[in-house]
Amino acid sequence: MVYDSNNIFAKILRGEASCIAVYEDNETLAFMDLMPQAPGHVLIVPKEAAVNLLDLSEAGAQACIRTTQRIAIAVKKALGVEGLHVAQLNGVAAGQTVPHCHFHVIPHATGTVLRMHAAILAPQDELKAMAERIKACLV
Ligand code: 5GP
Repeated sequence: MVYDSNNIFAKILRGEASCIAVYEDNETLAFMDLMPQAPGHVLIVPKEAAVNLLDLSEAGAQACIRTTQRIAIAVKKALGVEGLHVAQLNGVAAGQTVPHCHFHVIPHATGTVLRMHAAILAPQDELKAMAERIKACLV
């Protein structure tokens, strides 16, 4: 698939658009989803230009799953929730809205219903406070 380097996550990776970062290493960046499906929703992106999982190199996939696991552990600890969704959508038909590969980590507390996908902007101060809580739980 042809990679569009003007997508919003590519701009975030180049520092041309802002994000509320939670974690970064040489291969990946993790930041708060602006329209969280639950408080504490984090996105993990590879720094490599890849539209989706099918385009990603094996090394990129390994780096993403390593960071996703690390973030999932921190989110669970920070939020104290019983469950977590780890999601990754490939292609518009599957609901992918940003054409740069990414993984979702979404906390899911017992008895709650997730908000709709990419629908409701959360206040910046709430997202920043949540990022600090998650960062404090990273090991
Ligand atoms: P997808 O539909 O591609 O699996 O997920 C894209 C995700 O990116 C959605 O959950 C959406 O809320 C989030 N999103 C869209 N635009 C932005 C943005 O500019 N910044 C951040 N941090 N998240 C975004």
